[in-house]
Amino acid sequence: MKISEVRLVRLHGVFDDPGPRSVERQVGALDLYPEFREQAAPARGDAEPRPITAIYVQIATDEGLTGTWGPLMADQAFQIGAHLRRHLLGRDPIASERIWDVLSRQDRHARKGYMMMAISAVDLALWDIRGKAASLPVYRLLGGPTRDAVPAYASCLGYSLDLDAVRRQAVAFKEEGYGAQKWFFRYGPGHGRAALEKNMALVRTLREAVGDDVDLMFDAWLGWDVPFSIEMGRRMAPFSPRWLEEPVPPDRIDAYAEIRRQAGIPIAGGEHEYTRWGFKTLLDAEAIDVVQADPDWTGGLSEMVKICALASAYGKQVIPHGHSVLPALHLIAAQSAEVCPLLEYLILHNAQKQWFHKNKYVPENGMMRLPEGPGLGLEIDPARVTQREELHWE
Ligand SMILES: [Mg+2]
Repeated sequence: MKISEVRLVRLHGVFDDPGPRSVERQVGALDLYPEFREQAAPARGDAEPRPITAIYVQIATDEGLTGTWGPLMADQAFQIGAHLRRHLLGRDPIASERIWDVLSRQDRHARKGYMMMAISAVDLALWDIRGKAASLPVYRLLGGPTRDAVPAYASCLGYSLDLDAVRRQAVAFKEEGYGAQKWFFRYGPGHGRAALEKNMALVRTLREAVGDDVDLMFDAWLGWDVPFSIEMGRRMAPFSPRWLEEPVPPDRIDAYAEIRRQAGIPIAGGEHEYTRWGFKTLLDAEAIDVVQADPDWTGGLSEMVKICALASAYGKQVIPHGHSVLPALHLIAAQSAEVCPLLEYLILHNAQKQWFHKNKYVPENGMMRLPEGPGLGLEIDPARVTQREELHWE
C-alpha cells in the first residue's frame, strides 16, 4: 500500500449548537501588559447561529483507504501542504516509524512548534489508515483496551467565574458523575496582590461546593511568575488540589522546578512541550509531577507511546492535554491505568471541535466510551458541510 494523495480541506458550515457558550477567559502570558490584561473574554455568550470553518488533512492510499484528522490550525495545514506532503507521497503508510523519523529529520526546525504539530496531524491521519487497514480501532493496534471505558475530567475553560455560578456548575458536574474538575484562574501578578485573594475565592468556593471526594485541578495557563505561583501554591495546599497547571511559560524549566519544590502542591505541565526529548528534559529537571503531552501537538500517537514509556520509568502519570478527544482516548485505552488514569474533556469547546463529525464523543456519568469502528473513529458528516474548499501550497 502506498500513499497516493495528501489533501488539505477546509469545511464551511453554520454552528448552531444550542448548548452553553464560553463567556470567560483564563489568565495568560500577555496579561503582563495592561492593554491585554484588561481585555474581556471574546463575546461568545449568545447562541445565535454563526459561520464555522475547520481544516482537515486527508491522506489517501492506492488501495482506497483514507485517513483523516482535524480540525487543524491553519499553520499546521501550511506546514503539511508546503513541506511534509512531498515526503509522504509514494510511501508505505503502515511504516509509521520510518515516516515519523523522515518527517522529523527533513527540516532542522521540525523539532518543535508548528512543524512538529503538523507532523502530529500527519501521524494521526496515518494511524487512522492503519486502523482501517486492520479493521480495528487504533487503541487495539496500540495494545489496548486496558479498560472498557475511560474516566474523564470536566475541564471548565470558558465558564463564568462568578462564584454563585461556579458553585452551581461544580455541583452539577459532580452530580453528572465527574470525579474530577479543572478550573482556570483569571487573575495573575499583573492584577496586584488582590489577585491572590480573588483566585483563592475560586479555590475555596469549589472545595466547599464539591466536598472532599472530587479532585480539583487549577490551570494558570502560563500567566504567573515564580513568587506568585509559590504563594498561590502555599495558599491552595490546605484545599488539596490534585495539581496546579502551567503556572509559568513552558521554557522556564528551572522556574517549574523551583515552584514544584516550594509550592507544596503537585505541578502539571507539558501541553506546550514536544517529543520524548522535550519531556526527558522536564523529567530530569524534576519540573513536573503530571505529564500533559498533547497528541495533536507533541508528535502524534507514535510519539505519545514513547512519552508514556519515558514518564512511567520516571514514575510519573501522563494525563494528555485535552485539545481534542479521540487521539488521547485511543492512547489512554491502550496504556495501564497507572500511567494514563484520566481523559481531559473541555466541555464548552467540544461542540465546536466536533461540529463536522458524525459520531460525537461526550462523557456519560463521567466516563468516555471507547470508539468501536476501525481507525480513529472520525467521520465527517456531509449534512453539516455547506462548502468544501481544497487548500494548496506549491
Ligand atoms: Mg492547560
